[in-house]
Amino acid sequence: MKHSIFPMFLVLLFAVSAPLQAASEVNVYSARIEALIKPLLNRFTEETGIRVNLVTGSADALLQRLIREGRNTPADLFLTTDAGRLIRAKEAGMLQTIASERLDEVIPAHYRDDEGMWYGLSMRARFLVYAPDRVDVSGLESYADLADPKWRNKICVRSSDNVYNQSLTAALLAHQGEQVTESWARGLVANFARRPSGGDRDQITATAVGQCDIAMVNTYYLAMMLAGSDANQREMAEKLQVLWPDQEGNGTHVNISGAGVVHTARNRDAAVQLLEFLVSDESQRWYAETNHEYPIKEGIALSPVLESWGEFTADQLPLHLLGKHNADAVRLMDRAGWQ
Ligand code: FE
Repeated sequence: MKHSIFPMFLVLLFAVSAPLQAASEVNVYSARIEALIKPLLNRFTEETGIRVNLVTGSADALLQRLIREGRNTPADLFLTTDAGRLIRAKEAGMLQTIASERLDEVIPAHYRDDEGMWYGLSMRARFLVYAPDRVDVSGLESYADLADPKWRNKICVRSSDNVYNQSLTAALLAHQGEQVTESWARGLVANFARRPSGGDRDQITATAVGQCDIAMVNTYYLAMMLAGSDANQREMAEKLQVLWPDQEGNGTHVNISGAGVVHTARNRDAAVQLLEFLVSDESQRWYAETNHEYPIKEGIALSPVLESWGEFTADQLPLHLLGKHNADAVRLMDRAGWQ
């Protein structure tokens, strides 16, 4: 009798390890830089035994690669930091519908695809920063106000080939139509302090050093400068204050980082499992604390910097509409002279 315990133990061990072997890896194409996703993926492997093979690159390059590789692609999951790219991947036939009660329960409907092809995992808002010692922002309450001639030569924004600006313009198009949005874009361009150059951090820096007084940027860039280890960047960021546009109107424009399962995924179940892990409390806390993004899941604590900016009303526009309006937004920005 004594000896039978040992074989029984082995049988149990096999029973437990079998499902892990069935899906032992998942291949991720990620437009999110390695440092901002790898620690989470490592935790996933620790918890599930599923190995994650990560390929990082720019969203456009990875999408082109997916298309080129076609049915031979090893990718199971495509991860980006903007809804626009996920929508492009869907339109190119690169994603598949999945059904997950867990994802549908945690992620509000307007932050996921209406056909289950992609899901938002974290949120970022496009808000305003300004130099309070140089500009009095009374009267500046909305994106529309940025077109007021009052702000001539005061505004810094990155170029229109950037998808964040395209998504914002697409959202405005969805809300207010072409005419209003085009005259807004013309007014905004007329108020540029300089020809658009650099990324969002550069707009923040330009505002801090006085090249402009107001800039439109994604929340996490300012948060990372404020909470980061670079004293120079912190000092710049600390000179600025933040303003949430459209609090009386549609709400501040938000975008998502998110992911979708690739159409040919060989490790589909593991990919879904990874998506579900990314909306767990643990992952959502990590997004908030480390990336300074807003959790997609309710009830998760924010980072102290985000906390200090207070609550804001976010635009509830279903993000799949950004894809519908993207091409029109790009043409409109072009006509308005937004370089
Ligand atoms: Fe970014």
